[in-house]
Amino acid sequence: MYFRSTVNLSADLQTGLAGDSGAVSFKEAVLRCLPKEGGLYVPDSVPDLRPFFLHMGEETAYPELAAAVTPLLFEGDLNPLSASRVAENAFTFEPELVQLDETFSLLNLYNGPTGVFKDFGISFLAALLEELLQGETAMVIAAARGNTGVAIARAFEHREGIITTLLYPDEPIYGLESSSYVPQGGNVIPIRVKGTLDDCQKLVREVIQDRSFAERYRITGANAINPGRLLPQSFYFLYSFIKLKKHLTGELVFSIPSGNFGNLIAGLYAWKFGMPVNGYIAAMNANNYISNIKERYNYNSLGEVIKNGILADFKGGTFAHGFAGSKPAVSTIAPALDVGHPSNYERLASFYKSAPAVMQNMVFPEGIDDAGALKAMETAWKRYGIHLDPHGAVAFAAAENAAAYKDFNGHIVVLATGHPAKYADLAFKVSGKRLSLPEQLASLDRRAEPIAEIAPDLEGLESAIAGCF
Ligand SMILES: *Cc1c(COP(=O)(O)O)cnc(C)c1O
Repeated sequence: MYFRSTVNLSADLQTGLAGDSGAVSFKEAVLRCLPKEGGLYVPDSVPDLRPFFLHMGEETAYPELAAAVTPLLFEGDLNPLSASRVAENAFTFEPELVQLDETFSLLNLYNGPTGVFKDFGISFLAALLEELLQGETAMVIAAARGNTGVAIARAFEHREGIITTLLYPDEPIYGLESSSYVPQGGNVIPIRVKGTLDDCQKLVREVIQDRSFAERYRITGANAINPGRLLPQSFYFLYSFIKLKKHLTGELVFSIPSGNFGNLIAGLYAWKFGMPVNGYIAAMNANNYISNIKERYNYNSLGEVIKNGILADFKGGTFAHGFAGSKPAVSTIAPALDVGHPSNYERLASFYKSAPAVMQNMVFPEGIDDAGALKAMETAWKRYGIHLDPHGAVAFAAAENAAAYKDFNGHIVVLATGHPAKYADLAFKVSGKRLSLPEQLASLDRRAEPIAEIAPDLEGLESAIAGCF
């Protein structure tokens, strides 16, 4: 498949014509991470994967599915043998689909090394880069906060020749082992940037766009701006379909706890690949970007919100990231959804442009407050004897609302994106049970120190990196 930049999106949306930015291969998009024109990479042409997954049975293992579809996405840049190696290498953990009853299933995505779904995309990207680079040295760079940094460090730990530079905002750092740092013979360079997460993200973009810098170290990005991390997230939607298709009688809907909209976009890509599906619930908490736009501009339909939201963002020629619906994020019990400026909004708008009817009729935004999420945790425990983390609970609450519509006749797959034991206090509150944290997750909370502290600029970054070798 091929990718193009979202940079002409504003003009494209106004004229309805395709922009003229050049398309690049998947391999090039992964190795560059960001288009040179600016914006983000989005699929330009998409393969029909139906012949490859429609006949797959329930017994298909996750790495098998990933290995079968990956070569099609790379069209010649990755042969079936290499794709199998990437899949086997990346997925030493698997998603787990649990059918709860007629109406609901859970897609548990927290079995990876750091207990969140992000392990799936990161692990695939790490294995993919190792395969594409064939032993050549390279560097990945990422803005990191909370457990994102450890997730990236763990995934790249043993990858030959790949240095991992992590840019942290001015906050405590957790979970890294100093034995994995470059000066100690490892491959990780954690740097504290005197600034916010936004400053770190800006610096990542600058580094990638500064071609002399980027080429010197052969740098690409490991945040979700890299399509090599986002696209493989579509695999678990296909996987759910394979597991369920024999049992489905009505509609198939996914309920997705949404912060930066990465999982929602990945689900929509699965539809583009040919997966039969009827809808996606974008389950948000109090930080409901879509209803913010709706209120501010008085739009009624989702299509209007997405389209005009992005046009408003583009006012003045540059993309004011998520300006249209942005409000300062408020803290909730599901912190990964506390996003003021969703980083994949451009991709959502670009998807709207290519398939407006899908966005109008298949994406249902839903807002759930803390009380609603807690109640859903309690319902899950009382009705099914299972624990949900607060992010999964937001999605479950939204799914319950959808299932309560009188003409609803279908099955809803709820994405459980985080490990419930990470929120043991909430689990105790709703069930009276103490969950114990698996050791690999407990180690994520240990304090760690950066190698260097820099001002948010390229010079500081360059000297910090150079100082490690
Ligand atoms: C990151 C995260 C989310 C939000 O996912 P997006 O793809 O950014 O919408 C949801 N749940 C958990 C546990 C997360 O870590």
